[in-house]
Amino acid sequence: MSLKFSIDVLSKSNRNSLGRDIDITVFRLMRFMDLERYLGRGAHGVIYDCGKELGESLNPSTIDDVVNFCEKYKIGKVEIINKSPLQIRVYECISCSGLPEVGEPLCWFEGGFIAGCLEKILNKKVRAKETHCAGLGDDFCQFEIKVL
Ligand SMILES: [Zn+2]
Repeated sequence: MSLKFSIDVLSKSNRNSLGRDIDITVFRLMRFMDLERYLGRGAHGVIYDCGKELGESLNPSTIDDVVNFCEKYKIGKVEIINKSPLQIRVYECISCSGLPEVGEPLCWFEGGFIAGCLEKILNKKVRAKETHCAGLGDDFCQFEIKVL
């Protein structure tokens, strides 16, 4: 996947009076626009790859780096709940927290982000599958990690 702007360029801002924060509604409007209408069934994969790109570019050395980044950038509160198989839980998720149950997981971006981070940390291919989500009626997101 290629981005129009690098993560470094995207992070620059000249919003001297408004600052860097936006309301979660703005993020979610873009996050949940009907991409499938334009991209077909591959839309989830595009969002996953976008999150993965961010995770890789963050180039974390430890899982603590990932936990701290997610808290600092308000992606969510990340907790490792099991080491083998690796299971990662996200509370107060930026994408789905508070959304209604819709019968499917919603956090493709977060799954890709976690996978991208873990690939850098482990130096192995990783797949993150969301097993719990507000979209499935849960109070948190949970990802099952497969090291390939
Ligand atoms: Zn979720």
